[in-house]
Amino acid sequence: MSEINELYQQVILDHNLRPRNFKEIANASTHALGHNPLCGDRLTVFVSMDGDRITDIGFQGSGCAISKASASLMTTAVSGQTTEAAHELSALFRGMVTGDGEVDPDELGKLAVFSGVGEFPARVKCATLAWHTLDAALNWHDGVVSTENDEEQLG
Ligand code: ZN
Repeated sequence: MSEINELYQQVILDHNLRPRNFKEIANASTHALGHNPLCGDRLTVFVSMDGDRITDIGFQGSGCAISKASASLMTTAVSGQTTEAAHELSALFRGMVTGDGEVDPDELGKLAVFSGVGEFPARVKCATLAWHTLDAALNWHDGVVSTENDEEQLG
């Protein structure tokens, strides 16, 4: 186990124990429920928008350490971003953990802590659940119905 991996594990443990933005937003602009039945992770992402910009974001739910830490880091990464930037980051993140495409983890800043998850296929959906749920919430807000709903996405 390299020092880098230990650092990454500490970040994930920290976000699992003290998740950021772990809150319901009562008058959110949009929200979506994500469910990963393979692991039992279930979370709701709440987004407040001002025009095209995410002004506040929170999540609630329960799940394993990976899913919770991923949701926590997701909220800190996209808060203040436009929906377009958030979708781009989501695609980059999912590309990194699934190994699709050539994604340089350095592009993802702190989110790179999940770059090793791809070695554990059963955990990939735990790590991507928050991002699928975010995409769903933002698409709904935009009035767009996605034709590419992944089967694990919404319950
Ligand atoms: Zn999980």
